[in-house]
Amino acid sequence: MVADLSALTLEPAGPGRARLVAGSFPPPHPTPAVESTEEWVWSYDGIDTACEGVRETLCTLGNGYFATRGAAPEADQDDIHYPGTYVAGCYNRLVTIRAGEAMENESVVNLPNWLGLRFRIGEGDWFQPAGMQVTTYGQELDMRCGVLRRQMRITDAQGQRVVVVERRLVSMAVPHLAAQEFEITAANWSGELRVSTGLDARVANLNVRADRGFNSQHLVDAVGTVLSPEAVHIEVQTLQSRTRIAQASRIRATVDGIAAAAERQVLEQPGFIGQELRLDLREGQTATIEKVVSLYTSRDPAISEPRLAAAEAIEHACSFGELRHAHAAAWQRLWSRFQLDVGDAHANQVLRLHAFHLLQTLSRHTMELDVGVPARGLHGEGYRGHVFWDEVLVLPLLTYRLPELTEELIGYRYRRLEAARRLAAEHGLRGALFPWQSGSDGREETPTWIFNPRSGRWFPDHSRLQRHVNLAVAYNVWKHFEVTDDVEFLSNYGAELLIETARFFSSLAVFNPARGRYEIRGVMGPDEYHDAYPGALRPGIDNNAYTNVMVVWLLQRAIDTLAVLHGYRGELVGALAVDPAEVERWKDITSKMFVPFHEGVISQFDGYEHLVELDWDAYRARYVNIGRLDLILEAEGDTPNRYKLSKQADTLMLFYLLSAEELRELLSGLGYPLTPETILRTVDYYLARTTHGSTLSRVVDAWVLARSDRRRSWSAFTQALAADVADTQGGTTAEGIHLGAMAGTLDIVQRCYTGLEARDGVLWLNPQLPAELGFIDQDVLYRRQWLRLHITDRQVRIGAPPCAARPIRIGVAGRLVEVQSGQTQTFELPG
Ligand code: BGC
Repeated sequence: MVADLSALTLEPAGPGRARLVAGSFPPPHPTPAVESTEEWVWSYDGIDTACEGVRETLCTLGNGYFATRGAAPEADQDDIHYPGTYVAGCYNRLVTIRAGEAMENESVVNLPNWLGLRFRIGEGDWFQPAGMQVTTYGQELDMRCGVLRRQMRITDAQGQRVVVVERRLVSMAVPHLAAQEFEITAANWSGELRVSTGLDARVANLNVRADRGFNSQHLVDAVGTVLSPEAVHIEVQTLQSRTRIAQASRIRATVDGIAAAAERQVLEQPGFIGQELRLDLREGQTATIEKVVSLYTSRDPAISEPRLAAAEAIEHACSFGELRHAHAAAWQRLWSRFQLDVGDAHANQVLRLHAFHLLQTLSRHTMELDVGVPARGLHGEGYRGHVFWDEVLVLPLLTYRLPELTEELIGYRYRRLEAARRLAAEHGLRGALFPWQSGSDGREETPTWIFNPRSGRWFPDHSRLQRHVNLAVAYNVWKHFEVTDDVEFLSNYGAELLIETARFFSSLAVFNPARGRYEIRGVMGPDEYHDAYPGALRPGIDNNAYTNVMVVWLLQRAIDTLAVLHGYRGELVGALAVDPAEVERWKDITSKMFVPFHEGVISQFDGYEHLVELDWDAYRARYVNIGRLDLILEAEGDTPNRYKLSKQADTLMLFYLLSAEELRELLSGLGYPLTPETILRTVDYYLARTTHGSTLSRVVDAWVLARSDRRRSWSAFTQALAADVADTQGGTTAEGIHLGAMAGTLDIVQRCYTGLEARDGVLWLNPQLPAELGFIDQDVLYRRQWLRLHITDRQVRIGAPPCAARPIRIGVAGRLVEVQSGQTQTFELPG
């Protein structure tokens, strides 16, 4: 929206209003190094095999280039453990024949397991917590430094006790390196310690139980080689995409800090290469085994080939200690960009865990990899590593911290515009249609069938009808532009995405003369439980309110884009062949789009009012968790299509993406007045009918309730915080994090509770803190100016550290001031 701001006057700073303290700004928020450690440590005590999968996911280490699950080094893949390593964007396609039908799936590939390390005393049993006496066992993820520490005291059948401390990192400083350090102390024995370690390419994609019926052998042609007495190497490739992957490892050992004369032997089997070390230990001595690993693929820029790159990297890699130092410094720099403190120890701890995993999935090392936002992080094989619409909950957050990364992630869509244009054309439509799920090359990757483990049946998956994914792409482009004011970005990439998606929706909309309105038929909204009308032969529902309203928003932004790019307009209009009649149609749609209402609320879609009410009490009584009512109902021979229920926030997404004022303005332009009562009724109506079958749902609930019911908002927020740490979806966290929900909770603090909104060239702040939060401290970047925000219910303090940015305009609770770098402004809020 490009509003005329000339009517707004800049307020002078004055007593009781905005106080200006020129030339001084508050010291930085406390840096992580001086904060209490509990808020920076995520830990587990004891062994819990039932939860091992969740622990592995939440103890994953990564750097935006690759990530490795927090699996035990002595464990192979089995029913409890799943060591998985994934490089961003490393996909492969495999065909599975099911019931005579060929099903082709593209998946992120589980790469060779580099973690493996086992030890024993002489010819004794390999030390394993399972089956041996374990006196202490603990795992600690130090999020500040990005190090996973695991320690145990364990006694074998002969009564020989060892104390083991493992430290592990995936370097944030050098993205192709990872390292482990094991301290193994002979507590009550003297003898020969034998250590076996390796690089194991005998892996497959077996993380997701429901996918185990599909072909999973993505890696072929493994070749192991010895590089030096200390180092070995393995190369392997993916079957279809022909990506070559190379890993090298170097093992060093000391005893009580002195280089040890270890006897070494190369271990070789098909698909595996490793080394065995034999060391003499006396009672009380500690052997330190250091394993450094390099990882490259043929997709990497700036290398000639992965084998050479991995070998060279390992030859020049420094020690574990030095790697750890550089790694911690890189994390320190990242955390300084992700400063966030809400003054509540538990919330801080989980928010940091969320930021930690977000930054391990998407960091500066992700740039140039040409990858999107994977819904399940790089933490498991859930959803086969595909990219959905979840970026709508991720990029607005990142834009205020790492805008260059957001731009790069939008680039993932931009580079797939041709594929999107082809998909639109295949449907007989204009513009660009991004698929609901995508992977490497931007083609539609949504499966056509879903398996219901409850009924043992397959049923059709129509979720590709979620055309709204295109609205998410466009929304992120515009939000990025509003925050950064980066006209170059808009003119080079953003505008084309906005215009081509606008063009797609404009050609999808059909004018219905009987209603005198435009309609969008045969789609699905975010609620995946409604993919057709009851008994209908064709899939899809008509006039999903979320889609229709956001299309109007998009068409308005496309028109704004043409206005903003005034100087470039000829170029853009010419290149995309935008003709005046097309823009006229966009304008017409923005005043005549149909939006359904019933019983005084916005209807999720046309005809929603004819659906029947579900007997919620009966279902809650019969099932412990009704999140996946689609599966429950299908198993009962029924379908959610018959009921007034939803998997996740759908209509409510409107209140998530748009402010109440924006939505009111937009609907009134369509001739639908939106009263505060309609908003409240609509929110309550859908909150009462949502099963929360997606972790995204509680994030949206917390957001939309923030202004009307702070208590319920906080309760939804705490449930959103629990999604992965308590595995609330009942088993899905073991298959990867829920990145959208993790980023969404961070954004609730960053933008929602603070009322932070970049609009019309102004950064607005309109805080509404839940009673549970005394303050919010955070740093955000707006139009090249870092801002240090200290927000309470009574006051907003904005410090603008000195820099070369131009003055910016900030509006707090309706008051507008200009802020220059080097200044601090304090606003008292009305009580
Ligand atoms: C949700 C989608 C989401 C996907 C990936 C599904 O369960 O319904 O909205 O995009 O998960 O996170």
